[in-house]
Amino acid sequence: MTKIVAVLVVALLATPSSALATLPTNPNLVGAIRVARHYWHGNPPCGNPPITFAAMPPQRDGEAIPSACVIVLSSAGDWPNYIDLCITITHEWGHLVLGMTPFTASNPADPAHSPDPYSIMYSAGPLIFAPCEADPAGRSSG
Ligand SMILES: [Zn+2]
Repeated sequence: MTKIVAVLVVALLATPSSALATLPTNPNLVGAIRVARHYWHGNPPCGNPPITFAAMPPQRDGEAIPSACVIVLSSAGDWPNYIDLCITITHEWGHLVLGMTPFTASNPADPAHSPDPYSIMYSAGPLIFAPCEADPAGRSSG
């Protein structure tokens, strides 16, 4: 099990920006959460997941932890990029909504992820995801 040091985004956003160059702006974070909640028709069954940041392996952008009802994003991610932020949060939100084995029948090698490269639940994220391509009211930059 990976040790995760999770820090609430509220606390991170209150610290000097020079040390947090890769973190999202608060309006972008709010906009991405709005897209995820709209796409999945509300919160996951576990509740309203906080978005936290932690060190992760280089190939990993984020993960959902159903037992804690939390979404963790890599502290090294390019989060000022709104589309990356929006897709990752919506994807991880989907794990909390769907559970970790919704694709057992269609993708037995990786039952947490869709085999469809255009699905938000594709393992590497979708090739394109229109709800995140739109310019949300809360988007400020990136
Ligand atoms: Zn995933």
